[in-house]
Amino acid sequence: MIDEILAYNRAFVTNKGYKPYTTSKYPDRKLAIVTCMDTRLIELLPAALGIKNGDAKIIKNAGGVIVHPFGSAVRSLLIAIYELNVEEIMIIGHTDCGVGSIDIEAMLKKMEKRGISETVIRDLGYCGIDFNKWLGGFDDVEISVKESVSLLRRHPLLPKNIEIHGLVMDSRTGALSLVEKN
Ligand SMILES: [Zn+2]
Repeated sequence: MIDEILAYNRAFVTNKGYKPYTTSKYPDRKLAIVTCMDTRLIELLPAALGIKNGDAKIIKNAGGVIVHPFGSAVRSLLIAIYELNVEEIMIIGHTDCGVGSIDIEAMLKKMEKRGISETVIRDLGYCGIDFNKWLGGFDDVEISVKESVSLLRRHPLLPKNIEIHGLVMDSRTGALSLVEKN
């Protein structure tokens, strides 16, 4: 895959394929979106929102969840707000999310099968790593989105004038439903 992509990339640059994408690091719509890494959303999400290159900061992870108040998603949001002029945040979950039904015990067993020793997993548990909380999914995407919105609204480092909304996207049609409006 890497060779194929590098060859494509050389042709892309030579043919000035980048021309339609030229923009700045500051999001034109002053918007940040936290959403899922789901492959169906790669192009569907910006297309369904009418967002183009340069419009928004898009932060992706498994599930589009804010897991920790001082984790990587919040770090990105704080930089987006204070350094890149973001004024509005959307948390966008989606239907049929692969994170929605993860069985953590089964995933730990898969790790063991791939060579991670049971002792390492047990010791990390003793060190305070809560695998269910850290890797765990959610039963209901709406509740998950609402929890992430609520965590941000209560965050001590987020200025009060930032608008925060929660939405769920249909993974097939791109239809949005608003579950939490600022
Ligand atoms: Zn997902």
